[in-house]
Amino acid sequence: MRRPLVAGNWKMNGTKASIAQLLGEMKAGAASLQQVEVVVCPPFVYLADVQGALQDTTVLIGSQNICDSAAAGAFTGEVSGEMLQEFGCRYAIVGHSERRALYGESDELVARRFAAARAAGLIPILCVGETLEEREQGITEQVVARQIDAVVALEGIAAFAQAVIAYEPVWAIGTGKTATPQQAQDVHAFIRRRIAERDAGVADGLRILYGGSVKGSNAAELMAMSDIDGGLIGGASLKADEFLAICKAADS
Ligand code: PEP
Repeated sequence: MRRPLVAGNWKMNGTKASIAQLLGEMKAGAASLQQVEVVVCPPFVYLADVQGALQDTTVLIGSQNICDSAAAGAFTGEVSGEMLQEFGCRYAIVGHSERRALYGESDELVARRFAAARAAGLIPILCVGETLEEREQGITEQVVARQIDAVVALEGIAAFAQAVIAYEPVWAIGTGKTATPQQAQDVHAFIRRRIAERDAGVADGLRILYGGSVKGSNAAELMAMSDIDGGLIGGASLKADEFLAICKAADS
C-alpha cells in the first residue's frame, strides 16, 4: 500500500506575510488529515520561516531544487543538500519543467541533482513530462522514458526505492488544462511498467504523483486512478482551502 503524498510547489511566490497567513490557515486544516503525507516547497529564502511555522505539525518541507554537488564551495547561486537538511527539508524537487525549459537543465544535470539529494538523505521528487508538441508527435512515452533512464543510468534502479516521480505534462502546468484522469493514468502506468522492467518490487512501492492544474474540484477523480499516488501542486498550493481540498481528496 503506497502512502499518498501531496506536495505544494510555491515556485517564486510569497512574502513573509503571505506565507505566515497561508501556513496558519493550512495548519488548522492539515491536523485532521489521516493518511496523506503533506509537503510544502517554498522559495529557499523562506525555508527558515516555514521551518519555524511548521515545527509542531506533520506538514513536511521540500526544496524546489538542489545543487548537483554535495561538497560546499564555489557554486554561486546554488544551495546544497546539507544546507537544505539544516533547514528541515525532507524532499527535494528535481527536474521541474521550468528548470528544464527556462534554465536549460539537461537530463544528465537533473540526474546529478537527484543523486545529490539522495547523498544528503533527502528524497528526490523527479519531475518528468512531455511538451504539447511532443504529445502531438506521439512521443510522450519516449520522452518520459528518456528522462527516467538518465537517472537510472547514474543512480541505478534501487535508488527509486527512496524517491518519488512526478508526472507533469508541460502543457498542463499553470495552463488550467488538466490531463484527463485516463490520460494521466496511462502515463503513470507506463512509468511503473518502465521501472518494473528493472525491479518489480521498487515499481510497486514507487509513489508517482500527477501535476498539472490540479484543483480542489478535479483532484478526487485524478486520485482515484490506480497508479496516481498523489499530486505535485503549483498554483492551487498558494490557496489554503484549495490545497487542503486536494490533500483531502488524496487522503480518502
Ligand atoms: C507545477 O508547477 O508543478 C504545477 C503542477 O503547477 P500548476 O499546478 O499550477 O499547474
